[in-house]
Amino acid sequence: MFDWFKKKVVKSSDIKETDNDVVDIKEIEDNVNNYNIEHYFTIEINNSPFLKKDSQQIVMKHLLGEYNIVKTNNKLSVEEKKLLGINTRLSITKELVNVLNEEGLKQPDPKIILSDIWNRSTITKSKWDQYNKSKRVMPDVKFNLVSSGGGMGDCEWCQTRQKKKYLSEEDILFFLENKCECKPYSYSFMVPIIKV
Ligand SMILES: [Zn+2]
Repeated sequence: MFDWFKKKVVKSSDIKETDNDVVDIKEIEDNVNNYNIEHYFTIEINNSPFLKKDSQQIVMKHLLGEYNIVKTNNKLSVEEKKLLGINTRLSITKELVNVLNEEGLKQPDPKIILSDIWNRSTITKSKWDQYNKSKRVMPDVKFNLVSSGGGMGDCEWCQTRQKKKYLSEEDILFFLENKCECKPYSYSFMVPIIKV
């Protein structure tokens, strides 16, 4: 079993070992799957360099579909946009402006900040889901890294790993935690190597 997996994802007390000293994969998967989408949204909101620190709650509501801050009738006037230095051709709501910091307001289209957070979070969750599913069926499975963009826009780290026979444990964690430099998120995905 991966040591980092035990340490990072599951508390050691949560891991049940069988008589043969084999870690119960199903048990680990149940624990990992306790991370719902909110968990990933929280990470991305906290990591965003474009949001005001006190805007977490309202951004979370937006991402969960409870309150859409991008589509309200409270639009900025041309004058207000000029004052804030926002492209006057953009349609932008006051609710969105209220969650952005100075850097966020400088972005070519601030709406994309929120859709990027949504995409990064759902992609990270699906990576983990796929990983957990594969490990449950094949505990010793190894993974390849494949690009869905045909290599276009992949960062150097992803390009190097795509050429490898299979990913190391460190590579897998690095990839699952979205630490590669693809912007705004990686187009690569891990494929379990199935021997027939
Ligand atoms: Zn990458």
